[in-house]
Amino acid sequence: MTVRVRLAPSPTGNLHIGTARTAVFNWLYARHRGGKFILRIEDTDRERSRPEYTENILEGLQWLGLTWDEGPYFQSDRLDLYRQAIQTLLDKGLAYYCYCTPEELDALRSEQKPRAVAPRYDNRHRHLTPQEQAAFEAAGRTPVIRFKIEDDRQIEWQDLVRGRVSWQGADLGGDMVIARAAPRGEIGYPLYNLVVVVDDIAMGITDVIRGEDHIGNTPKQILLYEALGATPPNFAHTPLILNSAGQKLSKRDGVTSISDFRAMGYLAPALANYMTLLGWSPPRRDGGTLYP
Ligand code: GLU
Repeated sequence: MTVRVRLAPSPTGNLHIGTARTAVFNWLYARHRGGKFILRIEDTDRERSRPEYTENILEGLQWLGLTWDEGPYFQSDRLDLYRQAIQTLLDKGLAYYCYCTPEELDALRSEQKPRAVAPRYDNRHRHLTPQEQAAFEAAGRTPVIRFKIEDDRQIEWQDLVRGRVSWQGADLGGDMVIARAAPRGEIGYPLYNLVVVVDDIAMGITDVIRGEDHIGNTPKQILLYEALGATPPNFAHTPLILNSAGQKLSKRDGVTSISDFRAMGYLAPALANYMTLLGWSPPRRDGGTLYP
């Protein structure tokens, strides 16, 4: 099977060194395996996405020599596809309308907080009758759409970096919102986990290589693959670039965007080489490992 990997940046900022490093891993893997490297711009966050960031990302990748074979695809062009998938989940009874207001959800959270339990939706609208739904609609409420997550499900995968990873359904925050609120009969704006899975299926992605900040999304995505009748790809969650205090690198630590490094005079091959070697250590001379 031909390897197909993707980089899926959100255009909510300039090309970040962490995203560029994820691109390096994907690019190298595609080139090594004679596969395809696909670029997909995840611009479904309408408030924060900007065309100038997309431009900065494309330019930065090109400058680094991380050329892609397909795309860029834009998620904002593909909304019909996501809505079809949501309709399929509704038709199969795997998703449902939830009419809770933000105030009700806040009240639920404040009731959970003192009990020191992780915030989660209690699936209270999972089994509404048509009459109850009609009453909420008559009261002017517009529903979101939630995907069912069973508490007793155990989700496991063999991560190519981290080995066996296992999650309990009960730890995934309750039934997950996959579409924003919209009047009944319409399907609201689709959300991250759903659109990623629909695209990765449609684009035939074989290996998802991304930062480990996404590891908590993976069990939810695996459930969506299953619900949509598709086989999940391989997953590889790579460690993040950290600052000297061991926290995720941020703007406060200094320069983080590729265009800023470029403006400072760094050369593209030097930066690409640095990102490739970051996190790698040479084998010990006696054949042992540096970190047993
Ligand atoms: N759009 C996500 C991000 O920029 C990436 C999603 C993914 O790789 O699955 O972090």
